[in-house]
Amino acid sequence: MKVKKYFRAKNLKEFNSLKKKFPNSKILAGGTYVSKEKNSNIDVIIDIQDLGLNYIKNGSDTIKIGSATTFSEIIDEKLNYCDEILTRVSMHCGPITVRNIATIGGNIMAGYYWNDTTPALLALDARLVFAGKDKKTVTMEKFIENRRNFFGLLLKEIIIPKKLTEGRLFYDRFSRTASDIPTSIFISIKTKKEVRIAIGAATIRPFLLKTKEITPDFFDKKLLPKINEIKLVNDLRGTKNFKLKILRSQFKSDGKSGTVVAKVAKL
Ligand SMILES: Cc1cc2nc3c(=O)[nH]c(=O)nc-3n(C[C@H](O)[C@H](O)[C@H](O)COP(=O)(O)OP(=O)(O)OC[C@H]3O[C@@H](n4cnc5c(N)ncnc54)[C@H](O)[C@@H]3O)c2cc1C
Repeated sequence: MKVKKYFRAKNLKEFNSLKKKFPNSKILAGGTYVSKEKNSNIDVIIDIQDLGLNYIKNGSDTIKIGSATTFSEIIDEKLNYCDEILTRVSMHCGPITVRNIATIGGNIMAGYYWNDTTPALLALDARLVFAGKDKKTVTMEKFIENRRNFFGLLLKEIIIPKKLTEGRLFYDRFSRTASDIPTSIFISIKTKKEVRIAIGAATIRPFLLKTKEITPDFFDKKLLPKINEIKLVNDLRGTKNFKLKILRSQFKSDGKSGTVVAKVAKL
């Protein structure tokens, strides 16, 4: 990418008029991904650092996180919700030098299939708020299924509804080393209404599966068809077969006949 023009918008109004003038421009948050991008069609950058989008509002019903909040800021907040899942996930989003500048919004919008935030946000039933004239709020699930509809839009905020009863979460991230990009992520959360299972890194895109109950044949009858529908991905971190084995072991990682998810569901 050869940058010819760099703008640092002071407010949303300025951002919108810049976007209108340069529709093909690139949004820049922490820049850890943009700096490596090879798209030669983009020569205008709009920096969003001054838009005031780095905040965390930990309310009684929701957690609201501004899109330009860095992973270090999320970790420092010590969000005591849902087994500290947001802190635990943020710890994996690169080494500390990266976490100090990389933002949650940049991670979501970069959209790697292996990204650490997406499965957690799927499981947490997070909603994304986009700026613009027709302000859009969309579930994480719908966003992943229709990512193209959101290219170029400004992600403002991530909203997490606090509907999980404490202690009903299972999170397993398999990677070759602790600091490596994940090979497979498995998260399950039991809410009052359902069990939510989110999978990432092993498949072409992260996905969510909701179910009322976990039966002993759940993996083969429900989860495997969904994994096959989305499709496993071969990469340098593992073959499709290897990833499927990891997913099976993550599902059964309590080592008993009942699965971890089943155990969670009974709590
Ligand atoms: C060494 C290293 C190791 C890493 N390891 C991991 C890991 O293990 N797991 C993991 O999940 N990630 C990992 N990452 C990725 C890192 O977390 C992402 O690069 C980062 O989250 C992107 O955030 P950013 O603020 O730098 O985004 P930027 O580089 O600024 O932007 C990324 C993309 O999102 C767009 N964008 C940014 N903000 C917005 C917004 N508010 N609205 C709309 N579009 C926006 C940009 O236009 C661009 O396309 C690693 C990165 C590095 C460099």
